[in-house]
Amino acid sequence: MITAAASHLLPVFARADLSFESGEGAWLVGSDGERYLDFTSGVAVNALGHCHPHLVAALQAQAAKLWHVSNLFKSPDGERLAARLCGQSFADFVFFANSGAEAVECAIKVVRRYHASRGHAERYRMVTFEGAFHGRTLATLAATGSAKYLEGYGPPVDGFDQVPLDNIDAVKKAIGPATAGILIEPLQGEGGVREPSHAFFRALRQICDEHGLLLVFDEVQTGMGRTGELFAYKRIGVTPDVMSLAKALGGGFPIGACLATAEAASGMTPGSHGSTFGGNPLAVAAANAVLDVMLEPGFFERTRKMSLLLKQKLASVVDRHPDVLSEVRGEGLLIGLKAVVPSGDLVGALREEKLLTVGAGDNVVRLLPPLIVGETEIDESVRRLERACDRLSGARAKKEAAQ
Ligand SMILES: *Cc1c(COP(=O)(O)O)cnc(C)c1O
Repeated sequence: MITAAASHLLPVFARADLSFESGEGAWLVGSDGERYLDFTSGVAVNALGHCHPHLVAALQAQAAKLWHVSNLFKSPDGERLAARLCGQSFADFVFFANSGAEAVECAIKVVRRYHASRGHAERYRMVTFEGAFHGRTLATLAATGSAKYLEGYGPPVDGFDQVPLDNIDAVKKAIGPATAGILIEPLQGEGGVREPSHAFFRALRQICDEHGLLLVFDEVQTGMGRTGELFAYKRIGVTPDVMSLAKALGGGFPIGACLATAEAASGMTPGSHGSTFGGNPLAVAAANAVLDVMLEPGFFERTRKMSLLLKQKLASVVDRHPDVLSEVRGEGLLIGLKAVVPSGDLVGALREEKLLTVGAGDNVVRLLPPLIVGETEIDESVRRLERACDRLSGARAKKEAAQ
């Protein structure tokens, strides 16, 4: 019997001792009554901030009409969302799922079926990259390839060959007769805001074309405006065959999507994949409302302007605090601060200043403000970062003096 358990939530998360009552825009109100500047956006999910009036209205209207009917029936609003996503991208078809991992799982299945339907079931392997994050289902974990996350879950799902990022020779060496595709994030979020060169992506495209492989971009984190374009592949100038989306797609309502060209999706036939909840009316209403706002003229120009402003200000904080920070990374509003102190200490010090941020690999702290963030909030975040750095510098100096 468990005696000391104060919580019945499965203890898989190291949660901060903090909870919230409400939110508005870039701000959260804690159960402690304090106001917090939210530069986590629920891990790149609330791209339009908390309680955006258009999203609230759309979801309230849908909630009063119809919640769920399953995929046994037609989905006019789902058709509309899929058509809009295809209209904005390279894709011809969309499958709706409920999370990022499911969207990537679907992408993996699309790639395998593509080759199987052409009589090449032996081509099922995908090249993946060190530092990647693709989700926590058994297949997406195998694609992620992190020993820490795989431990204790039995043999990893077969079919993933991991190579170092930004090393085209390693990719070429990993390709064999069983290779079906290449799976990569346009910019690694969880892995520490690491972006391979655009030349690397162009080379991947070329290799895929030469070998008849499908190129899959996992845009679960980078998609829906996070890097300053609706999809990050547009910024890179390299078009994938398959793309996964999730996080910001529903603005906080769970929905994922796998997008593919007609060619790439040619192996998917009735019954070959499915989902009970995927693309249900509530999720689709939320995502259509997100697109309404993001597709307004000037939305991404504004995001890019805010990105530039924030990055400039952050760079000067890095210059003033070389004992705490060493680098600003990232694109759009997916920004990483490479820390000199343990990144967890910085996240903690920022939380004390009531600025919420997210850790990432490579000792990086991610700043993920909502895309609707304003100049005043950017200034405020930088002031709070300064104070946290002062505090950490002070603590460091004290520790050194004591030694
Ligand atoms: C968050 C993330 C996932 C997993 O999404 P979940 O909704 O947590 O399953 C997959 N890929 C990338 C790139 C992500 O950032």
